[in-house]
Amino acid sequence: MDFGIRCRGWLRRNTFAASILLFGIANTFAQIAIAEDVKPVQTVVVRAGRLFDPVAGRMLDRPVIVIVGNKINSVSNGNPPSTSGATLIDLGDATLLPGFIDVHTHLTSDAGSFGYEGLGISSPRAALIGAKNARLTLLAGFTTVRNVGAEGYSDVALRDAINAGDVIGPRMQVSGPPLGITGGHCDNSLLPFEFHHSAEGVADGPDAVMHRVREVIKYGADVIKFCASGGVFSKGDNPLLEQYSPEEMKVLVEESHRLGRKVATHAHSAISIKDAVRAGVDSIEHGIFLDDEGIALMKEHNTFLVPTSYPLFWFEENEPQMHLPPWVIEKSAIIIPAAKKNMAKAFRAGVRVALGTDAGVYPHGLNGGEFWSMVELGLTPTQALQSGTVNAAELMGWADRIGAIREGMFADMVAVKGNPLTDIRQLQHVQFVMKDGVVYKNEIAEPNSATHTR
Ligand SMILES: [Zn+2]
Repeated sequence: MDFGIRCRGWLRRNTFAASILLFGIANTFAQIAIAEDVKPVQTVVVRAGRLFDPVAGRMLDRPVIVIVGNKINSVSNGNPPSTSGATLIDLGDATLLPGFIDVHTHLTSDAGSFGYEGLGISSPRAALIGAKNARLTLLAGFTTVRNVGAEGYSDVALRDAINAGDVIGPRMQVSGPPLGITGGHCDNSLLPFEFHHSAEGVADGPDAVMHRVREVIKYGADVIKFCASGGVFSKGDNPLLEQYSPEEMKVLVEESHRLGRKVATHAHSAISIKDAVRAGVDSIEHGIFLDDEGIALMKEHNTFLVPTSYPLFWFEENEPQMHLPPWVIEKSAIIIPAAKKNMAKAFRAGVRVALGTDAGVYPHGLNGGEFWSMVELGLTPTQALQSGTVNAAELMGWADRIGAIREGMFADMVAVKGNPLTDIRQLQHVQFVMKDGVVYKNEIAEPNSATHTR
């Protein structure tokens, strides 16, 4: 039935109700206009010892940033301009950096709920877990994240709650349920046959894949995530094998791009990486068994690698306390050494890198560990910082608004003591966080400085 005809009929039958509705809408618009007229626009001046500019890849001494509302108004150096009524935040000798970006998080789940324990967590509960983790992530200096994979669209709810100002957290792009084959890494194979349980993103064959892409977009996905190969935390699949066929991947990527969505692909096996790159995906997540041919293809197609390297180091240290299911322990023994070797090779070859942490497989808020982990595997500190700022912004399609402290961009910035180019581990101890011009953390507070906090 045509919705337009039904709607017009309803309006004719309900003219009184319609006039109240329309009056209410007009009145609401009037209130918004008045509220915007009288709302004072805050001006904040931030001063620091140095500023990292990821576009130029260098430090600027004694920066002065003027922020009006939620945007950066000017960036200069030297003495602060006289801006009457402005709040001055003096960060002393600290280094100011653009708010960090993590393109691979799982905010709606916690480490430790792997395997059967995870089956008892509802989607509303997952959204609330997400609210807790969004706050931790923001306070760790990550002012933007891309969340790749959440059942029940709990990530859509979280993104919308943050945007509405109901909970504190980073800017988000979200995928909703990740797409995958029956029995694959993005399905859930924990229950026996009589439960007839499939994960929400399961789709087999080109037609079903196309439908599922449209469906996740309908319910709020900004980005499409799919599983091209097996993985570590899933039961009964093999990370060394491909899951989606090249034909399915091609349809998935074409439909996503046609509808204006980028595609992030979980891919471990060499063949799955290469087929996904040929299908035109925007990023390879993990890329554990990336080989020379895969590296060449990624360079040719300008595909981003999201290496998720911090978990490799974190699990080496913490695996015994994690009470992991046996299949996870078995697979990670193969994955960790291969990943370290192949990531280092990809970095040496100059594959473009965007920072992603896989936070959620280990505790949230440790995301800054990804910077030193990538340096450990061969990136320079400058390259590591670029991967978590300008590169990540480009992958998300938001290079015009985040990823650098430049005029006209959102006022998202962080500060650390000292110089992170000489001590990269400082980035795991962020002491100042501003998102949208609002200060969420300031442990530097010089005398005579004032802050607008909430
Ligand atoms: Zn992940």
